[in-house]
Amino acid sequence: MNMNRRDAIKLGAISVAAVAVSTVANAAPAAAPVAVAAPACEKRVLAKHQIVVIGGGFGGLTVAKGLKKKDSKLDVLVIEKNDTFMSCPFSNSYLGKLEGLNLGTFVFDYAQPVSAHGYGMLKSEVIGINREAKEVHTAAGIVEYDILVLAPGIDYDYENQFPTFSKEKIADLQRNAPGALIPGSEHVALDRMLKGMDDGDVVITVPKGKFRCPPAPFERASMIAAFMKKEDISGKVIILNPTAEIAKGAAFKEAWKELYGDNVVHMDFCTIDDVDTAGKTISFTQKISTGKKDADGFDIMKEEKKSHKYAVLNLIPNNKSNSVIKMSGVETTSDSFGKVLMNGCSFQTKTDKNVYAVGDVVGHGIPPSGQTAVWAGHQCVEEIIHQLQGKTYELPVKTTTVNAGNVCYSMVGDKPEEAIMVTHDFSWTGTVINGKGNVPKGPDGKFRSTATAKATRDWYRGIMADLFS
Ligand SMILES: Cc1cc2nc3c(=O)[nH]c(=O)nc-3n(C[C@H](O)[C@H](O)[C@H](O)COP(=O)(O)OP(=O)(O)OC[C@H]3O[C@@H](n4cnc5c(N)ncnc54)[C@H](O)[C@@H]3O)c2cc1C
Repeated sequence: MNMNRRDAIKLGAISVAAVAVSTVANAAPAAAPVAVAAPACEKRVLAKHQIVVIGGGFGGLTVAKGLKKKDSKLDVLVIEKNDTFMSCPFSNSYLGKLEGLNLGTFVFDYAQPVSAHGYGMLKSEVIGINREAKEVHTAAGIVEYDILVLAPGIDYDYENQFPTFSKEKIADLQRNAPGALIPGSEHVALDRMLKGMDDGDVVITVPKGKFRCPPAPFERASMIAAFMKKEDISGKVIILNPTAEIAKGAAFKEAWKELYGDNVVHMDFCTIDDVDTAGKTISFTQKISTGKKDADGFDIMKEEKKSHKYAVLNLIPNNKSNSVIKMSGVETTSDSFGKVLMNGCSFQTKTDKNVYAVGDVVGHGIPPSGQTAVWAGHQCVEEIIHQLQGKTYELPVKTTTVNAGNVCYSMVGDKPEEAIMVTHDFSWTGTVINGKGNVPKGPDGKFRSTATAKATRDWYRGIMADLFS
């Protein structure tokens, strides 16, 4: 490796990070008809709005825009805690340093859709919900509603995954091994660590149970491998997976083998035991087959304790519904994620006909993606319009299918850019909406192609234009 070049890159990384921080901090504040930059005062009633949407992400912005498009006189308010929007989709390509991408490709200003569509935006954090009184409590004060839409996305569940870790240790992990699965500054932090790394391995841990965008850790491994190859960094990308499951598995494995040789290593059945961020070491237990079978024909496994020195750690913790869902008190699934129980094939919650949910928190059998959140947002708009007009929304009771309700792309290669994709057809069963996935191959018999990479960029441009223009 050329040390002078790496040193130069490190210096560059520091100045880029500094620019990144000031870009976010200096972005124009969102227009906020009821935004009050007053000291925290959760008891003061700020205003009442017909429809209040919690979360200015993929689901929430789609609902707000869709309602105003249907009827410009509707009084819609979005409550969002972040100053600016940071996109998770396509962000792995930023880590891969694909051509023409910079932070500006991912950070958007809320003022634009607010003025284009005329919904309100309150920049504040939701800290409580009183459904009986129809109130949302924020750090800035109370907002009353007729109809509430919950679109707050996910939270990390470090506490459940690492019950013996102290608060300080969890904070240290968040700082030094960012998950980068939630909009905010974590992607920037991870990017800074990668740009500053010397030779060595990058370790990515996969969450257990349901989690946001199941292909994301594997796309990230591909993009980091592409980055290391391009920058002549000697090392491997090691994926520690608690199961053997890989979303779009055959397609990723094909790309890893053909593009990165043995530089992407997937290790299955690994449970993280400890992380020493000072010593840059992760310890884990891997279940390995003994080669013997039990009476039912299943592999007999043994446990091996292992540890690995890393240069950069992307510890993606287990996921759960954002704490706003708990605040609302709506019924949820009993697993550790806690998805919102829905009213049949609907985006109305089972618990409260005046409360809807969209995005990654919904309890339907459809994949948690930005594309799905947008699709759900449109369905939710239809239902709310019916309710406001005093009409009953007819839930589809027979099986109905929507082809490719979700299309999710993953970049796997650079120079040439290549990507893989999965499509999900959605179907209503009468009680729940389900999604069935298909990972297509191209005419050359390969999963990845340059055409799919072009479609990835087109998809991203299109969805962001839809949300922000
Ligand atoms: C690396 C990565 C790659 C991905 N790639 C794709 C892809 O290629 N295609 C795809 O379709 N999807 C992709 N996804 C998934 C996609 O990002 C999510 O499924 C999508 O963001 C879900 O939308 P949402 O509205 O539920 O949540 P979000 O978009 O996360 O929005 C939730 C919003 O609520 C706000 N909020 C949370 N709590 C509060 C509070 N207490 N008060 C006020 N505001 C609050 C948050 O700040 C946030 O803005 C990817 C995700 C990741 C991490």
